[in-house]
Amino acid sequence: MKEQLREAIRSLCRGYPEEYWRERDRERAYPEEFVRELTDAGYLACLIPEEYGGAGLGLREACVILEEINRSGGNAAACHAQMYTMGTLLRHGSEEQKERWLPPIASGELSLQAFAVTEPDAGSDTTKISTFAERVGDRYVVRGKKIFISRVQHSHLMVLLARTTPLEEVEKKTRGLSVFMVDLREAGDAVRVRPVDTMINHETNEVFFDELEIPAENLIGEEGSGFSYILGGMNAERILLASESVGDALYFTDRATEYAGERVVFDRPIGKNQGVQFPIARAYVRTRGAAALRDGAASLFDAGERCGAEANMCKYLASEAAWEAANAAMDTFGGYGFAEEYGVERKFREARLYMVAPVSNNLVLSYVGQHVLGMPRSF
Ligand SMILES: Cc1cc2nc3c(=O)[nH]c(=O)nc-3n(C[C@H](O)[C@H](O)[C@H](O)COP(=O)(O)OP(=O)(O)OC[C@H]3O[C@@H](n4cnc5c(N)ncnc54)[C@H](O)[C@@H]3O)c2cc1C
Repeated sequence: MKEQLREAIRSLCRGYPEEYWRERDRERAYPEEFVRELTDAGYLACLIPEEYGGAGLGLREACVILEEINRSGGNAAACHAQMYTMGTLLRHGSEEQKERWLPPIASGELSLQAFAVTEPDAGSDTTKISTFAERVGDRYVVRGKKIFISRVQHSHLMVLLARTTPLEEVEKKTRGLSVFMVDLREAGDAVRVRPVDTMINHETNEVFFDELEIPAENLIGEEGSGFSYILGGMNAERILLASESVGDALYFTDRATEYAGERVVFDRPIGKNQGVQFPIARAYVRTRGAAALRDGAASLFDAGERCGAEANMCKYLASEAAWEAANAAMDTFGGYGFAEEYGVERKFREARLYMVAPVSNNLVLSYVGQHVLGMPRSF
């Protein structure tokens, strides 16, 4: 099953070669055609159960899809969130909410690509977010601001994390946060979006909430329990994005291996030199290790078991392996690594993101130090 799926994604991606992604990157344009084809083929709905119109596959299969997109030279970040952002709704939403939103998300009629957590004054310390949703009658009124919220302009819906009880009034800082489904089509001027230009082709934005009214029926799960809901979703996100890093790493080792065999300098292919060969081989070994940890994490997630440690660790290892492979490829290509037409420089920029997002690698190490190894808390 997994091999068939892998082959099907490879075949789809062959229709979107290096030039396609290079052009989109240069113009900072959205890969509309690619996302449409992926949606129509049902791949972005792979995690939605069949009863709601999806394919009902597991995270292991979703990992294969994202890995192969990135290995082909593509950039799954343009649409990966359509796969997993609905997970919070699926796991914690009411039956009515699921019936309302999941089928149109599965068919691609509605896009749910935006997940709004990060704030300028809170950064990695999520419990310090200050965007506030105040209950007023049968609605919530939201005020505040978010940063780096991706794909808002390609989303009909957005999952929002906001405070519903001030930090000073909760016993535990992780309480008093709630999750909402925001219908951006109904938001009007109450949601303003200001794009943030970045070094990659990634539609990300500052988002301002100015008295945004959300019907109370759009609250997902219980008021005040939102932090624990998004943690489950973040595990899925980390495992899936680790797969994109594994794909990036394999893209680099594929490209570097091929080039090292072809490029002749001093009358021999440069790949004969161990100074060229070993960095590529070392990055490949690390990539295989990261992929094995990722497979283990995805299996735990699919079995409904705790996987916080594995999800964090595979995201860390995969992003580091991709960065190592990116540098090995740049070195192998020499000056040509910098030339746009070779594609390596674009992927080099894209691969760097995953050391910082969706969680920075320092924060992963602090999680492992404190929660896995039991060392003293630093914050
Ligand atoms: C292109 C892009 C897309 C994004 N998309 C989204 C999105 O769709 N939705 C969303 O909610 N967010 C998104 N993000 C935000 C992303 O998740 C954050 O940037 C990331 O979690 C880091 O937070 P920060 O930028 O505030 O860094 P900070 O928290 O300010 O950290 C800065 C640096 O300090 C380090 N640091 C901080 N505290 C400690 C500590 N105690 N110990 C050791 N080191 C520490 C960090 O590791 C980091 O290196 C996106 C970011 C980017 C760049």
